Amino acid sequence: MNLEIMKKHDVRSRYNLPHDVVFCKKCTVSNQRPRITFDEHGVCSACNYAEYKRSKINWSDREKELIDLCNKHRKNNGAYDVIVPCSGGKDGSFVAHQLKYKYGMNPLTVTWAPLKATKIGRKNLDNFILSGFDNILGTPNGRVTRRLTELAFKYLGDPFQPFIYGQANFPLQIAVTHNISLIMYGENGEVEYGGDMKNAFRPDREITDHDKHYFSGLPPEFWVDHGVTLADLKPFTAPLYDDVVRNKTTVQFFGYYKFWDPQENFYYCKENTGFVPNTERSEGTYSKYASLDDMIDGFHYYLSYIKFGIGRATSDAAHEIRDGKINREEGVALVKRYDAEFPSKYYKEFLEYCSITDDEVHAVIDSWRSDHIWTRESGDWRLRHPIWSE
Ligand SMILES: [Zn+2]
Repeated sequence: MNLEIMKKHDVRSRYNLPHDVVFCKKCTVSNQRPRITFDEHGVCSACNYAEYKRSKINWSDREKELIDLCNKHRKNNGAYDVIVPCSGGKDGSFVAHQLKYKYGMNPLTVTWAPLKATKIGRKNLDNFILSGFDNILGTPNGRVTRRLTELAFKYLGDPFQPFIYGQANFPLQIAVTHNISLIMYGENGEVEYGGDMKNAFRPDREITDHDKHYFSGLPPEFWVDHGVTLADLKPFTAPLYDDVVRNKTTVQFFGYYKFWDPQENFYYCKENTGFVPNTERSEGTYSKYASLDDMIDGFHYYLSYIKFGIGRATSDAAHEIRDGKINREEGVALVKRYDAEFPSKYYKEFLEYCSITDDEVHAVIDSWRSDHIWTRESGDWRLRHPIWSE
């Protein structure tokens, strides 16, 4: 086995994590989520934002801002006037449908191909297109994508990184090549789920925050040292910054303009864009309607559980508590039940896709277990501070 992948990572300094694990008083998230902050009452920034969103924001004023924005970008000559990044899932589909049918825009929807697509994900994308949308699917070279997935898993502890590159950069590329200046995403994850709050009170995001928020500080070009060429990386990279500026590109979040509620988006898309939930819950959590497109993403969530003690159920429960769908006690029970579940459903596909062995996978996983999160007791790994033992 490649010894380098077994080398223990200093997770705490890499992600700037506090030594003592503290959970939010209101939701299930802990202070181990990168960039999240807690107030003096022990409440996380995402919960405070959820409260602010309900009590302080005048949503009819925000809708007027949205209409102004649309009017500014509307083309009326048949040309596309907004790009909506959309996998066919409930969030992007909601945004595209609202912009087109409620606000009279002419969106071009763009999809960055999943690393390894699931049937249900593809079906939802097909249904979405059938419900009335133009779509461009960006599919990068399969050999390169596999190699990047393997590298990202081994060296970053996140096999999903190549997907995240394309998800952030492909819409920018299409914006520049099609001269469309407005890109509309769904929610600002940093603000809604906890992270950098500097954009909480503005509708857009600075392009220069890309590397920091989405790429763990490692842009696609990083991998040139690992036997991948610049040409291989082209589809994953951002367009030239000068071209982005010349195009007057602006990246906006729909969640700034309209009240954002993932479960309501699901009901909306079931009604309007042919969206169907999965027949079974996603591994590591209890939900059936979020992030269904990719066989690899279970490993992204699982590694987050390993690095931060924050698995998929923790994240789902946290936002459902903030959205008032469940209470904290129910959330804690769901975390206890599902957070640690290993994504075994597509494990065979994962091993094959990354050309990696089961032993190597476990060596990589263990290399990301930090002593402040994990302890080993009679051969088993245990969380030092599970939320249910508070
Ligand atoms: Zn919270």
